Amino acid sequence: MGWGIPQSEGAPVTELAKPIVAVVGRPNVGKSTLVNRILGRREAVVQDQPGVTRDRVSYDANWNGREFVLVDTGGWMSDAKGMAAAIAEQAELAISMADAVLFVVDATVGTTDEDEAVVRVLRRSKKPVVLAANKVDDQRHEALAATMWNLGLGEPYPVSAMHGRGSGDLLDALLDSIPEAPREQDVEEAGPRRVAIVGKPNVGKSSLLNKLADQQRVVVSDVSGTTVDPVDEIVEVGGQVYRLIDTAGIRRRVKEASGHEYYASLRTQAAIERAEVCIMVVDASEPLTDQDLRILSSIEEAGRALVIAFNKWDLTDEERRRYLEREIERDLVAFRWAPTVNISALTGRNVDKLSKAIEAAAAGWETRISTGKLNAFLGRLAAAHPHPVRGGKQPRILFGTQAQTSPPTFALFTSGQMDATYLRFIERRLREDFGFVGSPVHVEIRARE
Ligand code: GDP
Ligand code: GDP
Repeated sequence: MGWGIPQSEGAPVTELAKPIVAVVGRPNVGKSTLVNRILGRREAVVQDQPGVTRDRVSYDANWNGREFVLVDTGGWMSDAKGMAAAIAEQAELAISMADAVLFVVDATVGTTDEDEAVVRVLRRSKKPVVLAANKVDDQRHEALAATMWNLGLGEPYPVSAMHGRGSGDLLDALLDSIPEAPREQDVEEAGPRRVAIVGKPNVGKSSLLNKLADQQRVVVSDVSGTTVDPVDEIVEVGGQVYRLIDTAGIRRRVKEASGHEYYASLRTQAAIERAEVCIMVVDASEPLTDQDLRILSSIEEAGRALVIAFNKWDLTDEERRRYLEREIERDLVAFRWAPTVNISALTGRNVDKLSKAIEAAAAGWETRISTGKLNAFLGRLAAAHPHPVRGGKQPRILFGTQAQTSPPTFALFTSGQMDATYLRFIERRLREDFGFVGSPVHVEIRARE
């Protein structure tokens, strides 16, 4: 008898310290296929239509027990015009977010101008790069891979993403290239809390950033333990100092090329990954959209603390606010745990109140419940509301422990599988008893059959 395969309810557990690996390269070299190969599943969609925006670009991956986040930059195919420039930009973006870069070339085609454009960008960066010469489906093609030495990026690893050939050596090299202690753990955790301002275009992200940064600029050297990424800014809000993630991205507003939406979602995802707390900016004067909900889901999936800022409050009247309330009840029930602040980035209304909400969310995110308290809670819960009998058996919770904080993650050891509805019930009760304001809560089952 032993513990069954862990059943995870909701999103996979994401830890802060996971290094980020960006997969870059021109279209059709096999990036998505390689991502799938590394994930060992068919999660990344390969047959995307050109130009179609893909929301999901980052995945939790694991090699030999080492966990990392894989960012697939393959979701966007440029039209022929300005291809090299577009790809170079993609690479730049990837580099700014990643701890290491997996650069994929097609060994059967040889190096192209577009490959060279990426290489120029990669050379300028100080990030480790591992070169995958893909489509080496058999031994005969290995000589082709060797010609990739001419890119000047060191040893080309011959792989076949399609058949799995060589992917083990590639992953070994990739993980060897990542510094043991990634930046989050070492540097950033010592400094101010990392906050990302996210939201769809035109909701007021850059207006909010300007309001925060211009009013209360902080002299960076005054803040101990900070080495600031050039894309970040340190600001003071309501007496608290924060590191705002990827403000360069917010200021830059890439809007020219087709595909800007894809870049925007890539940046959003990257900012979420690096953040501890996300401020989700919503335009309160307009109806909520699917895009708002998708970004909120990404934040929850990534396991980040969340504050929802309803911006442009100055534009709302009685009627709009009534509608908004209804929209919130209908569409945001799943995020009821997030603190909300009604702000105007234009007038500055309530902007300083964000810090209270950020602090509350961060505290909820870091809450730790002692094993004793947790099991007393689980005992009471099971006595009052036992799991329904399934197939003549009564699945029971034997023991529980909080496996992680940031976000709070609970592992329940059970006899038999538990219904998803029961797990959601447990999550709801956990929130009622312990709070976890502003934080996703994950409940995982380790079932003994
Ligand atoms: P991306 O645009 O870089 O993400 O490329 P895809 O992963 O979509 O792959 C482009 C095409 O190359 C698809 O038709 C794949 O099936 C094919 N492909 C990917 N990897 C390999 C490989 O290792 N060998 C061969 N022969 N074809 C591959
Ligand atoms: P971003 O794309 O999310 O960075 O949005 P911007 O900050 O560029 O704002 C988009 C537009 O909304 C601009 O014209 C802003 O002046 C306007 N805007 C932003 N915040 C507010 C607000 O609180 N009230 C009003 N009335 N307009 C705002």
